[in-house]
Amino acid sequence: KEGNLISLLKSAVKKVELTAANKDQHLNCLFNEEERIPVDMDKDRVEQVILNVISNAIKYTGEGGRIDIDALKQDRNAIITVTDNGIGIPEAEKSRVFERFFRVDKARSRAMGGTGLGLAISKQIVESHQGTIELESREHKGTKVIITLPLSLKRGIRNIE
Ligand code: ATP
Ligand code: MG
Repeated sequence: KEGNLISLLKSAVKKVELTAANKDQHLNCLFNEEERIPVDMDKDRVEQVILNVISNAIKYTGEGGRIDIDALKQDRNAIITVTDNGIGIPEAEKSRVFERFFRVDKARSRAMGGTGLGLAISKQIVESHQGTIELESREHKGTKVIITLPLSLKRGIRNIE
């Protein structure tokens, strides 16, 4: 079913704004709130992905940190990026964070709560929408998660006409 990714992002951001504010973090929305980015999706599932990724950014970024959330259309895809300036992920562990139950630094992660399933589930959901989820990170610098989802074909054709 077709939905507007921008509306979904706006409502997701509202749901975690307070959690961020409690850590004195600002969720910086860079996307154009007026734009329409049509995607064929299960809105609840895609919202779950967005909430997972933004919650990670909040959880793994210190007090006063900055989290940028952007979304745009590029060719036939919608691209969502969530960028934080948090603790980052060591290069050696980067390839493993999409595995079930994998968490960087078990002891520290345990203290922060969670199961290590968020990104594994997110990857499954994104791929079931013919999309991709990737991650760029530098330890102690921050992390950027890039999600692509195909734009709704119906709209795409209409746009070309
Ligand atoms: P859950 O999401 O199930 O509550 P979780 O957040 O630990 O638990 P994932 O979301 O799957 O699990 O993330 C896996 C691991 O990847 C995390 O434990 C953390 O070590 C690392 N990670 C994920 N996102 C970030 C981020 N933005 N910055 C730094 N590390 C991250
Ligand atoms: Mg998580």
